[in-house]
Amino acid sequence: MAFDAFTMLTLTIALAAAAALYLAVEWSSVREPSLLCWSAGFATISIGSSLALMRGSGYLFIGIWFANGMLVCAHWLFLLGVSRFTETRLSRGWYLAIPAWGGLLLLPDWPQWSKTFLVVNSLLVALMTLHASVLLRPHGKSLSVGAVQLRYVLLLHGSFYLAKTLPPLVPGTLIDLMAFRGLIIQISLVEGAMAIMLIALSMTGTVRYRREERIERLAARDPLTALYNRRALEVRAPSLLATVTPVSPGALLLIDIDHFKLVNDYHGHPVGDRLLIALSEMIRSLLPERAIAARLGGDEFVILLGGASRMQIETLATTLRRQFQQLAAQTCITPEPVTLSIGANLFDRPPASLAALIEQGDVLLYASKRSGRDSLQLVDSL
Ligand code: GH3
Ligand code: MG
Repeated sequence: MAFDAFTMLTLTIALAAAAALYLAVEWSSVREPSLLCWSAGFATISIGSSLALMRGSGYLFIGIWFANGMLVCAHWLFLLGVSRFTETRLSRGWYLAIPAWGGLLLLPDWPQWSKTFLVVNSLLVALMTLHASVLLRPHGKSLSVGAVQLRYVLLLHGSFYLAKTLPPLVPGTLIDLMAFRGLIIQISLVEGAMAIMLIALSMTGTVRYRREERIERLAARDPLTALYNRRALEVRAPSLLATVTPVSPGALLLIDIDHFKLVNDYHGHPVGDRLLIALSEMIRSLLPERAIAARLGGDEFVILLGGASRMQIETLATTLRRQFQQLAAQTCITPEPVTLSIGANLFDRPPASLAALIEQGDVLLYASKRSGRDSLQLVDSL
């Protein structure tokens, strides 16, 4: 089978149309705007490549200027999609790329027009693609696997187009856009078909990975306080507990608000919610380095510490109780004081399980409740 330019172009039309359809279907279920920009980009390539076939019938304005202009538009749409995905604003200069292509029409008939078209086209495509790749670099936050793939695919594609600006500048290179003749054009058509596949696949991957990460993050957090939930604690606790030794003891603090129901009864559920959020913020701000905090449910919270000491537990519990009591007294007057009861245990070897540890903490917490609340009950098994 001969891979002549027209066969390659027909393949490009089919691949770009399939990519446009695939990304549009993905958008219809995910509703991520960048997918729509990328789908429109591939649709533009498919239409532009169909128009490019017309140059064989002598329609040079549509077959060359218009068709290559659509390739520029398609890459602009890819860049727009990446800017949406990364939530960055495109500077105004990028909106000038399309009028810049229009400027070519103002040039008079000149002998090197094929080469000039190719250089300007390649340069515009390269700049937009490389900028999209730059937008995808990690800005202080880590990137998902999908985004890293797209970043490198765009970097390769952009570099290819940048390299494509050089051969036309070498005197004697054959570039005939009218008849699709010249090695550069042949290579470019093959690269185009490959790029469509790779870019479309990594674009879908980018959005999927980010969605999965978001779902995973949401599933690990308590929706009210944004602290870890019980499930997330169960996943993270074993690695911390495994590090417990007599030199680096572990500790668990189980915290329950005293008379919390009175806050709901006297001030309403929203005030109760705000108090739970305030307590979780206090916990977060006092959390030492090797520690995990979670909301187990209702008004019950847990702090798991690595490298703990008796003094550290006492200081942490006292500060937390004092700060919380002050806030509760200022914001919600109730017949009984709204304070904190804490059950804590300090241990020098990994416990049988997290559940067993929480059970011990529960016993201590209820000892605190029985002895009049607003206190820390600590068992030191070092
Ligand atoms: P105790 O001193 O014995 O701990 O009594 P308590 O009034 O604090 O009641 P308890 O801990 O047994 O029950 C917790 C209450 O917290 C029950 C429920 O009404 C309330 N609650 C649970 N989840 C939420 C929530 O998300 N928001 C609000 N506002 N209240 C909640
Ligand atoms: Mg309570």
